Amino acid sequence: MAIAKPIAVCPQCREVIHPQARVCKHCQSEVRRGTSRRERIARRLNTFRVGFIAGLATALVLTLFLYLQFGR
Ligand SMILES: [Zn+2]
Repeated sequence: MAIAKPIAVCPQCREVIHPQARVCKHCQSEVRRGTSRRERIARRLNTFRVGFIAGLATALVLTLFLYLQFGR
C-alpha cells in the first residue's frame, strides 16, 4: 500500500492543493492553515462575548426601565 501523502483541499474551490500553499493555484484565493480550529474557538468565544454584552445591556436597560416605572 502506498503511503498517503499529506494533502490539503482549498476551502474555496475544493481542489487539491499543496499542503503548505498559501495561495490556491486553482482559484488564487488565500489559504489559511493551522488556524482553523483555533480560529473557530476564537470566533465562538467572540460570539459568546458579544451575546454576553448584549444580554448585560438588555438587563441594564430593563432594570433602568423598571426603576423609572416603579421606583418612584
Ligand atoms: Zn481554490
